[in-house]
Amino acid sequence: VRVLGIDTSCDDTGVGVVELLPDGRVQLLSNRVWSQTVHARYGGVMPELASREHVERIDEILQDALQEAGLTVTDLDAVAATSGPGLVGALLVGLMYGKGLAQALNVPFHAAHHLEGHIFAAASEAELRAPYLALVVSGGHTHLFDVPRDGEYRLVGATMDDAAGEAFDKIARLAGLGYPGGPAISEAAMRGDPNAVPFKEPLQGQKAFDFSFSGLKTAALLAHRGGARAEDLAASFQRAAVSFLVKTTVRAAQANERRTVVVSGGVAANGALREAFRATGLNVVFPGKGLNTDNGAMIALAGAAAIRAGRPASALNGSATAYAPLANA
Ligand code: ATP
Ligand code: FE
Repeated sequence: VRVLGIDTSCDDTGVGVVELLPDGRVQLLSNRVWSQTVHARYGGVMPELASREHVERIDEILQDALQEAGLTVTDLDAVAATSGPGLVGALLVGLMYGKGLAQALNVPFHAAHHLEGHIFAAASEAELRAPYLALVVSGGHTHLFDVPRDGEYRLVGATMDDAAGEAFDKIARLAGLGYPGGPAISEAAMRGDPNAVPFKEPLQGQKAFDFSFSGLKTAALLAHRGGARAEDLAASFQRAAVSFLVKTTVRAAQANERRTVVVSGGVAANGALREAFRATGLNVVFPGKGLNTDNGAMIALAGAAAIRAGRPASALNGSATAYAPLANA
C-alpha cells in the first residue's frame, strides 16, 4: 500500500511517499520539502504569506516526491494530510489538496495529527510498537507522551512556557547566530566552552515531568549583556538544555516503566542531544535524516500506521484546527 503524506502546517511544504509492506513494515520512498524563505525578512512566520507559498509550491513538490519515488499519481493507494495543529490557513492548503487528490483517485483519505506525524517519523528507523514513551521537541512543542497502546497518547509532561526549539531560535537570534537557531547553535557550540556560562537547571527538584525554558532564556540574555562570547553561550546553553531534556525524559521512562523512547521534532536533529540520549542505555529511537523538522513523509508514516491499525478513513468534510491536543487519556 503506497501512502502519500502532505504537511503544510507552518512554513514548510512537505510531501512524501511511503510503502506499507504486507508484513507490516514500512519503507520510505521519498521525502521532499520546500522551506519557505519569504519569512526571513520579518523575523517570524507570516501566516498569510505561508498559505500563499504553499498554494504556489504544492504541485511542484508533489511532482518531485512522486518522481523521487519513481511513481505516478495513479500508483497511490491512500493519501494522508495534516489537519492540525498549526496555522489554519496553511494547514487548509495541504488538507484540501490531499482530500481533492484522494477523491479524484478514489482512494481513502486520512487526516493526520501533526505531533503523531513527528512521532511516526521515527518509524523510518525502527518498527514503532507500543508501549513506548515519546518526547516531541520542536519549534512549538516540548511534550512527553506515554503510549501504552498504539494510537493512545497520555500526556506525561509539557513545557510551561517556551518550546525547546523556540529557545534555541531565540538564543541564536540574541547571540547573532542567525536563523533557524537550532542548527546555528549546534554549529557554534562546537567552537565554544560549555562551562563558560553557568546555567542553572530549570525546575530542579520537581516530581513532575514538566519543562521550562524561560529561565535559561533570561540567563542567556544576562550572560550576553555581560559580554559572553556567542560560541560559549551556544555551547553552555546547549549543554544545559540537553541535560534537562534527557534527565526529565529518563525519569519519566523509569516512572512509567518504559524501555523504548522516541525522540522527535526539529530539536531531535541536535547531535549533542542524540549523543546524550544514546548514553542513557534506554532504547532510544530518532527519526531518520531529513525527518526531524516538518516534512510530508512523517505524515505518510502516520497514515500508514493508521491503515495498519485498521482505522477507518477520515470524513472528507473535516476541517483544519489550529489547536488540537494529541493526548486522549
Ligand atoms: P511544531 O511541530 O511544534 O508545530 P515546528 O513544526 O515549527 O513546530 P519543527 O519543524 O519540528 O517545528 O522544528 C523546528 C525547530 O527545530 C526550530 O525551532 C529549530 O531551531 C529546531 N532545530 C532544528 N535543527 C536543530 C538542531 N540541530 N538543534 C537544535 N534545534 C534544532
Ligand atoms: Fe512540526
